[in-house]
Amino acid sequence: MSVGYLTMDDGPSDITRDIIDYLTGRGIKPVFFFTGQNIEKRMEEGVYAIKKGAIIGNHSYSHPNFEQLTLEQCISEVEKTEELINELYKKAGEVRKFKLFRFPYGARKLNESKEFQEYLKNQRFCKLDDMHITSEWYDREGLIEGVDVLWTYDFTEYRIQNDTSLTYDDLVARIHEKKQGSSDSLLNEGSRHIVLLHDHEETNAVISRYYQKFLDYVMLHGVDFIEPEFRYLS
Ligand SMILES: [Zn+2]
Repeated sequence: MSVGYLTMDDGPSDITRDIIDYLTGRGIKPVFFFTGQNIEKRMEEGVYAIKKGAIIGNHSYSHPNFEQLTLEQCISEVEKTEELINELYKKAGEVRKFKLFRFPYGARKLNESKEFQEYLKNQRFCKLDDMHITSEWYDREGLIEGVDVLWTYDFTEYRIQNDTSLTYDDLVARIHEKKQGSSDSLLNEGSRHIVLLHDHEETNAVISRYYQKFLDYVMLHGVDFIEPEFRYLS
């Protein structure tokens, strides 16, 4: 068996309600990393996710590559979205307990973004508790020292939107690979992960209820999704 936190990026979308209903049915509590521009378009879906117990993290306003932005632009992307997330919690009538941030595309360049990391720390952002993450790659990259939330396993299922040669079976086969690019295997006995799926209606148009298919599949193969726990960097 292995364990993982489930994170879902880029929503809210037209399928967020279906996703959260499915996850609730399976007893999985996710962290959704929403973009500000999608919150503006689908406020009600965001409120619904919170009411159903999801935790909402910040995935920037317009999903730019932060490596190409100035520090001021990075902060502005975060703050615009923070306001929208606060509004979602207010509308849902829930207290927001945690502030989390994930870089679009995972483009984080830790060494060059010390000031941005300091900013996150000062703003009391926390991260998913990654003290027991088993990924060698995660350790090597020094991800434990960042306030932002990365991942150790990405299904990369969104690629199916543009790559017509890629199939559902290819993505399933990838789950069983011992080394997938830079991440360690999701199914390794005793391993612990931060798992990434995307909240994309475009993927759903290619594989209906893809989130259910992938998550049911990995749970059947021994992955247990655990309640999110958090950690502050001092
Ligand atoms: Zn994203």
